[in-house]
Amino acid sequence: MNMPNMKQARLRTKNPHKIIKDDYIIPTNVSNIGKNKNYHVITYGCQMNVHDSENIKAILEDMKYKEVNTIDKADIIVINTCAIRENAHNKVTGMLGRIKHLKETKKDIITIFCGCMAQEENYVKNLTQKYKWIDIIVGTHNYHKIPIYLENIMKDKKQEVEVFSIEGDVYENIPVKRDSKYKAWVNIMYGCDKFCSYCIVPYTRGKQRSRDHLDILDEVKKLKENGYLEVTLLGQNVNAYGKDLNINYNMANLLEDVAKTNIKRIRFVTSHPWDFTDEMLDVIAKYDNIMPYIHLPLQSGSNKILKLMNRRYTKEEYINLFNKIKEKIPNVSITTDIIVGFPNETEEDFLETLNLVKKLKYDLAYTFIFSKRESTVAYNMEDLTPLEEKKTRLARLNEVVNENAYANNLKYLNEEVEVLLEDKSDKEGYLMGYTNTMKLVNVKADLSYLGKIVKVKITDVKTWSLDGSLVKELANVR
Ligand code: SF4
Repeated sequence: MNMPNMKQARLRTKNPHKIIKDDYIIPTNVSNIGKNKNYHVITYGCQMNVHDSENIKAILEDMKYKEVNTIDKADIIVINTCAIRENAHNKVTGMLGRIKHLKETKKDIITIFCGCMAQEENYVKNLTQKYKWIDIIVGTHNYHKIPIYLENIMKDKKQEVEVFSIEGDVYENIPVKRDSKYKAWVNIMYGCDKFCSYCIVPYTRGKQRSRDHLDILDEVKKLKENGYLEVTLLGQNVNAYGKDLNINYNMANLLEDVAKTNIKRIRFVTSHPWDFTDEMLDVIAKYDNIMPYIHLPLQSGSNKILKLMNRRYTKEEYINLFNKIKEKIPNVSITTDIIVGFPNETEEDFLETLNLVKKLKYDLAYTFIFSKRESTVAYNMEDLTPLEEKKTRLARLNEVVNENAYANNLKYLNEEVEVLLEDKSDKEGYLMGYTNTMKLVNVKADLSYLGKIVKVKITDVKTWSLDGSLVKELANVR
């Protein structure tokens, strides 16, 4: 048993990470254990988790398990968890209740608990004491060892817990079963060293570790050859890409090289304002296949709160960067994240955030009430604002966010935009996809248009989405 340790998880050394490029091999004695058996993966949280789940699915399929879309039909259930906010915890706890119930009638189900919550010391302690029926608890650093854990529990039927609270390495060649045939997540780095005072990610994901750019470019080229039209370069703080490699190659260089592969659409998330360079902006402006969409977390409009959050920029520096992005990238859309009710946030601090959001008119903002995470610096900060007051602030902020979103969307009415149609829409007879600027569009079209970039005329505008009619097809898969 290897339990998580939050103190160790915080440590950072100067040792470079290893990039492990060995072939991924499933041990022969488990290579067929999934024959005639099914698995189901439940994913909570960010794109990083979604992509990790794509790796876990491929590992299980390499052992011959087949994917099913419900826990009731599964022989293995994987819960890939998120630790960023308390309500993510609550959802997971609710799901564990459902699985426990299922396991009472179907004793052979194997449950794998993984993701960021599996890196949390106290949560895992609780799991090992009160949820003994969970078979495997595996941290974010060692998914590649899932076949070995399965082998172990089949032999000795004991709960297997292996969570490493380490800086971490980079494992290439882990198989992947992508959820989409048209757009792909491409990790460019793992972990984070920023230690924003409210954030648990540097503890759950380890230190910043960039992948070798040649491996990234190779992956993008292969995706393009396989008909993929869009890649999203993923990391907790992609703008800091390469800083940990001690080579003269940065995010601007990477973006430019990815653009030169001529893949149709390139996106990247998430950008910390601190590391956003002019060089990056020049590259984004230069290449048509780098999408004019930037997610730029603000978190607060008050310098006092930004300092307490350890965000490393001031409101003025943020505004300066925001304006530069707007000037350099025509028709860019900018979205953000905002936390309200951070410890010590007064009404005046909140008004600074609100007024800034009114001024910057984001295309969209993801807004949250501050959620205390154990082991982070903000956990111990005095927090005197009542929850009701925080909820009121959130509602006031959301009103402005929604007004801005609608006003921005209105500019698209009767315009023609490019959309990659990627899935069926919730609206009957419609497909859905995103514009270059990341606006969700529902388009009346039959299934033959799936996987195609089409020109769409926007016919109706809502706060969260647009409706459009097909004008013409521009590109498709292969
Ligand atoms: S940059 Fe800050 S908010 Fe983002 S993952 Fe790192 S510590 Fe968390």
